[in-house]
Amino acid sequence: MNLAILGATGSIGSSTLDVVSRHGGRYRIFALTANGRADALLALCRTHHPPYAVLSSAAPDAKLAAAFKECGTELLFGARALEQVASDSRVDVVMAAIVGAAGLASTLAAARAGKRVLLANKEALVMAGPLLTRAAREGGATLLPVDSEHNAVFQCLSDIKAVRRIVLTASGGPFRTSALDTLDAVTPDQACAHPNWVMGRKISVDSATMMNKGLEVIEARWLFDVPPQTIEVVIHPQSIVHSLVEYVDGSLIAQLSNPDMRVPIAHALGYPERISSGARSLDLTTMKDLTFEKPDERRFPCLRLAYSALERGGTAPAILNAANEVAVEAFLAGRLPFTGIARVIAETLAAVGAGEASSLDAVMAADNESRRAAGTRVAGLAPALSS
Ligand code: NDP
Ligand code: MG
Repeated sequence: MNLAILGATGSIGSSTLDVVSRHGGRYRIFALTANGRADALLALCRTHHPPYAVLSSAAPDAKLAAAFKECGTELLFGARALEQVASDSRVDVVMAAIVGAAGLASTLAAARAGKRVLLANKEALVMAGPLLTRAAREGGATLLPVDSEHNAVFQCLSDIKAVRRIVLTASGGPFRTSALDTLDAVTPDQACAHPNWVMGRKISVDSATMMNKGLEVIEARWLFDVPPQTIEVVIHPQSIVHSLVEYVDGSLIAQLSNPDMRVPIAHALGYPERISSGARSLDLTTMKDLTFEKPDERRFPCLRLAYSALERGGTAPAILNAANEVAVEAFLAGRLPFTGIARVIAETLAAVGAGEASSLDAVMAADNESRRAAGTRVAGLAPALSS
């Protein structure tokens, strides 16, 4: 099976390569991609010798291309090359693990080309859920969730018509119990120090604000084609129960494992077979506390913002997503206080009108407008940091 890994140098990319390396011969790496980290991509090519690699943010560079050639790899440059490798007729499986809106076009290209798409890039579904699911249907693609909650739900689903609730679990992040008046001053490193998972910095901040769960509610709405009110969020600080499905008869089915992304990745890679992931077995006798609590809206205003964007529909989720990306980037760069993230998103949602999400162009136009509006708000809030 030929595999293209988009976002190979990231956290999901490296977990994917770890699982693949446990199944010698089953998967052949066709393409690996990165944004700008050429050295990290070259190191992966030295190990995996894919026929293609993509550096999407770089301009053609003959010296760099020659270094990749030594691994037997042709290096492609620019964002369009992502779509090329994602839709190449020789590719069977695409791991969509680019972070953010930058992953949308290549994920869509893979869906249109009828690939088995292992979806980590949740932002693609948030921005363009109806477009992406339709492209997958029409292209004959299979979307398999890699996000641990959605993978868990997928594993628990039998009769979708008999589902009463889908319960997404959330860890609550590093600030679940911090005093609310201390959140203004938290640093990017504190926000990225997730209690249970090691992830890229953007999703780590999203977990701290719980926008990650908001994005996941929207992701679940499109993946499982259920109304938003069917999807509930509970905080489960131990990150052992990855999500649950309740049926009309009152049965609640859950999927449990140690928090290790190789579990959902192996599930999606092997599906419908089960393949080993390298994850440790869960020792039930050490599980003294598996607790569940309701999210506090004052602490996590981003969750409500996501539900309201989903209810508004059209391009509103794309506006939410873009504002979040701008705000998180500003926070990570020290230009916005942590509590400014939710403010920027709320104000951007109020200021930018949502339209129909009828085409990729319409979605990208909303994304652009939201980025501009959010940028202005970040600049307005920046003084709060120095005061
Ligand atoms: P990382 O930041 O660790 O990795 C991101 C990858 O995307 C890198 O390969 C990076 O390349 C590449 N990339 C970044 N920006 C661009 C761009 N503009 N164009 C093309 N490629 C780009 O992210 P994660 O692996 O943590 O997350 C990836 C996706 O998976 C996200 O959507 C996240 O929400 C989702 N996810 C992640 C989980 C996790 O445990 N990490 C869990 C569930 C979902 P470079 O190295 O060159 O910058
Ligand atoms: Mg998740």
